[in-house]
Amino acid sequence: MSETSPKLRAELEGIPTYKPGKPAAAGGPVAYKLSSNENPYPPLPGVLESVTGAAASFNRYPDMACTGLMNELSDRFGVPLTHLATGTGSVGVAQQLIQSTAGPGDEVIYAWRSFEAYPIITQISGATSVQVPLTSGEVHDLDAMAAAITDRTRLIFVCNPNNPTGTAVRRAELERFLDRVPSDVLVVLDEAYREFVRDVEVPDGVEFYRERPNVCVLRTFSKAYGLAGLRVGFAIAHEPVAAALRKTAVPFGVSQLAQEAAVASLRAEDELLGRVGSLVCERNRVVESLRGQGWTVPDTQANFVWLRLGERTVDFAAACEGAGVVVRPFPGEGVRVTIGEDEANDIFLKVTEKFH
Ligand code: PMP
Repeated sequence: MSETSPKLRAELEGIPTYKPGKPAAAGGPVAYKLSSNENPYPPLPGVLESVTGAAASFNRYPDMACTGLMNELSDRFGVPLTHLATGTGSVGVAQQLIQSTAGPGDEVIYAWRSFEAYPIITQISGATSVQVPLTSGEVHDLDAMAAAITDRTRLIFVCNPNNPTGTAVRRAELERFLDRVPSDVLVVLDEAYREFVRDVEVPDGVEFYRERPNVCVLRTFSKAYGLAGLRVGFAIAHEPVAAALRKTAVPFGVSQLAQEAAVASLRAEDELLGRVGSLVCERNRVVESLRGQGWTVPDTQANFVWLRLGERTVDFAAACEGAGVVVRPFPGEGVRVTIGEDEANDIFLKVTEKFH
C-alpha cells in the first residue's frame, strides 16, 4: 500500500479535528449533557416507528435522491426541488458548500467566535479563513464583515443565531449587509437554531433567498427536530448552488432511517414545535435567573446560553461536572450551556449562583 504523500500528510496534520461536546459520565452521579446543543426530548413515538419501519430494509441502499424528503421540504418551504439539497447533517452540507465554491487562493469570511466547524472545513478545502471578531456584545459585526470582502472572497457564513453566543442579527442590518455583498459572493445563512428564534425582527433567511440568488439557507434536523444522531441537514439555494451541492454529495450519504425520520418529523411539526416552545420558556427562565444572580448574559435566540468567564472557564466547567451537568468550555473565553431538562438547568443555575 502506498504511503500518504509527505505534502498531504503535512497539510492534514495542520488541520484541527472537530471536537464534539463531552458526553455525560456513564454510571457516575446523575449527569446531564448540556454540551452539544441537543434536544433533551426523546424521539416521538411516530418518528421512532418510521425509523423501525426503515430499519427492516437496511440491507438495501437508501434512496440516493432523498425523493420523499425533498418533496416534503419543497412543499413545506414553497421552493422548487431544483433549489434544494440534502446532506449528512448541515455540517456536511456546509463542507460541500465550501468545497464547491472556494479553493486555494480564495477567502471565506465568518465571524469569530462562531461555529467551530467553519475554520476546519475552510482549511480542508484549501481556502483561507478570514475571521471577523464579534463585537463586545458578542454580536456579528456586519460592517466589519462587509469591509473584509476582497476580490478573493468567495463565501461568507452568517451564523444566525450565532453558536456559541446565541445572539442574532436583525432584518434591517442583514439587509444592509447583503446590499454590500457583490453578487458573485455566496452568503450562507446558517440557521441551525432558527426554530428557537422569538425576536420578530430576526428574519427567516428564506425571505432573503427568495430575493437574492447569492443567498443560501442552511438548516438542520438535529436541533428543534431532535434527530442529531441521524445526521440530516439541507440547504435552500438557487439553481447553480443547489446543483453543485447535489453533485458533490457523498453517494447515499443520508440513510433511509434519517430520510424517513425527517419526513415523519416534518409531519409531526406541530408537536415538535410545541416542545421547542417549552424549551424557549426554559431558556427565558434560565437567562432571567442568571441576570437575577448578577451575570451579564447576551440575548440568546437559540437553545443555549453563553457565559463569559475568561480565565475561570475551565474551573467553572469542572464545577458543573462535579455537580452533575456537562457544559461546553471554550478555555479563556467562556462556556456554552445547552438548555436541557428542567432539573439539569436547575443544577447549572446552582453552580452559577455559587460561582458569581
Ligand atoms: N451550524 C451550526 C451553527 C451548529 O451549531 C451546528 C451543530 N452544532 C451545525 C451547523 C451542524 O449541525 P448538524 O451537522 O448536526 O446538522
